[in-house]
Amino acid sequence: MEQQYDIVVIGSGPGGYVAAIRASQLGYRTAIVEKYSTLGGTCTNVGCIPAKALLDSSEHYHQAQDQFKTHGINITGLQLDFAQFIGRKADVVKQNTSGLVYLMKKNKIDVHHGTGGFVDATHLKVTAADKETVLTSKYFIIATGSKPSSIAGVNIDKQRIITSTESLSLPAQPQSMVIIGGGVIGVELASVYARIGTAVTIIEYTDSLIPAMDRELGKALYKSLGKLNIKMLLGSKVQSATNNGESATVKFLDQEGKEQTITADYCLVAVGRRAYTDGLNLQAVGIVPEKNGKVKVNSSFQTSVPNIYAIGDVIEGPMLAHKAEDEGTLAAEAIHGGKPHINYDLVPGVVYTWPEVAAAGFTEEQLKARGIAYKTGKFPYLASARARASMDTDGFVKVLVSPQYGEILGVHIIGPRAADVIAIAVTAMENELTVEEMFRMCYAHPTYSEALKDAFLMASGQGAVNI
Ligand code: FAD
Repeated sequence: MEQQYDIVVIGSGPGGYVAAIRASQLGYRTAIVEKYSTLGGTCTNVGCIPAKALLDSSEHYHQAQDQFKTHGINITGLQLDFAQFIGRKADVVKQNTSGLVYLMKKNKIDVHHGTGGFVDATHLKVTAADKETVLTSKYFIIATGSKPSSIAGVNIDKQRIITSTESLSLPAQPQSMVIIGGGVIGVELASVYARIGTAVTIIEYTDSLIPAMDRELGKALYKSLGKLNIKMLLGSKVQSATNNGESATVKFLDQEGKEQTITADYCLVAVGRRAYTDGLNLQAVGIVPEKNGKVKVNSSFQTSVPNIYAIGDVIEGPMLAHKAEDEGTLAAEAIHGGKPHINYDLVPGVVYTWPEVAAAGFTEEQLKARGIAYKTGKFPYLASARARASMDTDGFVKVLVSPQYGEILGVHIIGPRAADVIAIAVTAMENELTVEEMFRMCYAHPTYSEALKDAFLMASGQGAVNI
């Protein structure tokens, strides 16, 4: 069976489904190809959404156990129903994947389930368990995303040595878990399990948690996660992980270079993700992935084959759902003749621990390395009335600004609802607002976002005005 389209999108993650919707809105006959039975890719099925569902559930449990008493709420017999904990997450995922089926129908996008592999630059074979279909198209958008990666000596067996995917659907609550990697995914899943009482150890190779972000954020997060009794071993190098049947043992060199071992119910490997192009048969069209597996594109998201575009985790840049979404829109618009623009420095990075961490723009380390002069304004949540009311006083807002023109160079937040507050900073930086414009704007009181105003006031040389 052969079918003809204008644009075929391969992969239905946040990059792919957004690209398909935009393509259809622009009037193109569009299809989307997905190898799994549900739409939504990593983000919807085994990434952002299920992780946030478990983060929210675990935070409720933790608050009930730790903070309700202070609010005057006494509970007896508090228990965690782990099956329901995982089951609610599964429901949330289902609601989102069903929503995507609806969106595809509404936008008249044909959905083909099966693995898409190129035959040549205008034909894609979709192989499903029961049939093969060849799609003919003028354009293709590769949005095949990424998969978890590992390190030498650590073989992921998905039983005891697991990835984030398995950790989101464990059959029973683990008593203990060792997590290799203190990056975003590692610290989020450490929070989930530590809050519900699992003994969690993070082993991180560098000397900081979330090492890609501003160093002060990593330090503050270390303190906050310490309050959850998470053991964090920084500057430690994992050598091997072994499945013992009912547990896993991790061997590593500690900060002094001494060999140590830890045994836990599970070893969760959270050392990053690699671009995924398996099964795409890129050699048929002459696309050669880079050494790190990524597909190279130009500023219009075109690969070396002009009618084949690529977006999301499979190309260079931060592996984030919102980056993939924006690229999806822009790739469809580029096919339509648009000139894409995306400021990668302003793609916000967010960590959904509690307190949350969020940042946009340059870090202090980047400004120093580039020799760019900056002033710092910092406001602690301890001084915020809103944060005191909700008992969320850990953290701060730090703004980095140019001394000469008052340009905002970077905003780094660790604090309550930082993931939402950062949008204000991105708006300001995208529109080149100055420090003065930021502190003269009216912020509702009392809010977490007011801390931004105070940080900008501090950076301007005036003192903070809020409590
Ligand atoms: P993906 O979402 O990976 O989708 C690719 C799709 O392509 C998959 O469905 C795959 O099955 C399909 N595919 C692959 N090859 C083929 C083929 N040959 N034929 C057909 N289909 C194919 N990002 C955030 O921004 N915020 C978060 O809070 C966040 N949390 C995360 C938490 C976890 C635990 C993880 C693992 C990731 C998280 N991410 C988060 C990252 C985010 O999930 C990814 O950046 C995002 O999903 C990338 O989107 P994508 O469209 O490029 O690819």
